[in-house]
Amino acid sequence: MAEPANMSSKGSASRILIVDDEESLIYVWQRFFGKEGMLVDFAGDGKQALDLIKRGDYAVIFSDLNLPSLRGEELARLARERDPLVCVNVITGAPSIEGAVACMKMGACDYMGKPFDPLNLVVKARRCLQHYAQKKEMAAMKEELARYEEINRLKSEFVSNVSHELRTPLFSTRGAFDLLRVDLASGLDQTRRKLLGVIENNLDRLGQVIGNVLDFAKLERGTLKPEFKSVSLHDLAQEVMESLSPLFTQRGVVAAPLKREASGRRIEADSGQIRQVLTNLVGNAVKFTPSGGRVGIEIRDHEAMLEMIIWDTGIGVAPQEHSKIFDRFYQVDGSLAREAGGSGIGLAIVKGIVDLHGGAVWIESKLGEGSRFHVSLPKVQTKEQGNA
Ligand code: ADP
Repeated sequence: MAEPANMSSKGSASRILIVDDEESLIYVWQRFFGKEGMLVDFAGDGKQALDLIKRGDYAVIFSDLNLPSLRGEELARLARERDPLVCVNVITGAPSIEGAVACMKMGACDYMGKPFDPLNLVVKARRCLQHYAQKKEMAAMKEELARYEEINRLKSEFVSNVSHELRTPLFSTRGAFDLLRVDLASGLDQTRRKLLGVIENNLDRLGQVIGNVLDFAKLERGTLKPEFKSVSLHDLAQEVMESLSPLFTQRGVVAAPLKREASGRRIEADSGQIRQVLTNLVGNAVKFTPSGGRVGIEIRDHEAMLEMIIWDTGIGVAPQEHSKIFDRFYQVDGSLAREAGGSGIGLAIVKGIVDLHGGAVWIESKLGEGSRFHVSLPKVQTKEQGNA
């Protein structure tokens, strides 16, 4: 019987293995595949074939059905056990439907009758090699994706854990500070009261940053769930403008008074999350508006939606950046933008929360002329949005 004939180096994933106990046929195979420059090994029986399969990486196997020490369908099963992507073609002199079904069940890709046209087999081998390479590439990409997703999951978990760790001491610091301030306030001179104000503002700011990071990690993991209740956007807007008043003062920006037009209108929303949306948008508006500029909120009543417009007379955003600024970590590279600091997650959180509410957010802005961020929210949550 013919010895395995190596026609090229081992270890390549584009190799072909041919298993047949007819020496005359091996000669034919050798001639045709060799002429095509394909990397082919030969085995004269099933046992020899298994040894080769254990040692080498085969993409395609052509095997006779009736082999001396092993049947072709069993060889197909064992080869697929070792590499589920390998393409095994079983060849027989007496083809039958039952035989074909048995081979396919064992993992063979094709079942062919003899005699065969060697040229057709060469074409088939090329096609199998191509499929194998594509499947390998897909498998590698899936593996890469799974690894990336795992790293991403670990990162979100880490960010979320660290933020929780930071929030606990911040809460107790804030509690202790509030108690001390009440006791101290009356006995302090103006300078010291100012210092207390600085501490308070910075504790608030830290709380907002940590809240943002926590929300971001939850959004990334899909665990941020809104609790829908009836809320007044007007009251929330008022609260946020008041809570950010120290920032307005510090930056020399004027807060425009809120109009009362839509003040009675309520929507179903998560008030904590909408407060976060407003805080991020108003915070940005103040941050990107030079001293002397104005920032305000308008609320408009539409049929099924309420729309909030957070506007400023600041540096504006160029049209080509409008679709990018809601991407996570994206920051426009301008001098005032960079001076203002930030982490590039504020607008991604805004978009994530608005999406969870079944709403929409978009920007209208021209560079140097200020910005208008529109947030449109449904008044009533449908079942699907409620389960989002
Ligand atoms: P950051 O932490 O950088 O503020 P955001 O996601 O909140 O991150 O905003 C992304 C970028 O969009 C900002 O870095 C800034 O370049 C731009 N931007 C956001 N709001 C405004 C605004 N009101 N005026 C001008 N640029 C803005």
